[in-house]
Amino acid sequence: RPTIGVLALQGDVREHSLALEAAGARAVAVRSAGDLGARPGDRLDGLILPGGESTTMSTLLTSFGMLEPLRALVAEGLAVYGSCAGMIMLADRVQGAAPGQSFLGGIGMTVRRNAFGREVDSYEEDLIAPGLGAGPGDPLRAVFIRAPWVEEVDEGVEVLATTRSGRAGSDEGSASGGRIVAVRQGPLLATSFHPEVGGDHRVHGVFVDMVAHRS
Ligand code: GLN
Repeated sequence: RPTIGVLALQGDVREHSLALEAAGARAVAVRSAGDLGARPGDRLDGLILPGGESTTMSTLLTSFGMLEPLRALVAEGLAVYGSCAGMIMLADRVQGAAPGQSFLGGIGMTVRRNAFGREVDSYEEDLIAPGLGAGPGDPLRAVFIRAPWVEEVDEGVEVLATTRSGRAGSDEGSASGGRIVAVRQGPLLATSFHPEVGGDHRVHGVFVDMVAHRS
């Protein structure tokens, strides 16, 4: 069983841990730089960055001395899955970042913070996303909470899910026929939405498979 850490500074730590266990991994809470696997035998096989607020996550990671160790782990090829604020943390380019906000980077993409949240805070859609195990007969209920979307991806970034159309009422979105909301680049996975709510473990299953096939 791979051991996967869940960054436990804010967000749905318990729900992510339960989903990981259901998908066949061992979940451990990560609260300090030491928990990132500095001690021999503690090595994490993967890490989840839950949603929350990326400005807060950035501040907490910096003040707990975790930002640089995490950047080093991403550079070494640790498998990391970021949801919502976690997706923002993994983006190489962020639109609407707060002044001085820090990111980990790693995925060659531009994300726009709070892209879905102009008029209402949350939005749900049934996504058809074969790359996440969700076919037309078995779509994935995606819950977006003040969520980012992906404006553009570089070559080498795999698009795993797109909304059916831009959200009605959200500026130019509806005309362009969909927004990218899940991507993968090598060992890094990111979704705009929160798969830990609602008891569907397919996205966690995809991540556990990614982790398992690396070692
Ligand atoms: N809007 C948040 C941010 O910018 C993300 C929201 C979420 O993670 N649910 O960090």
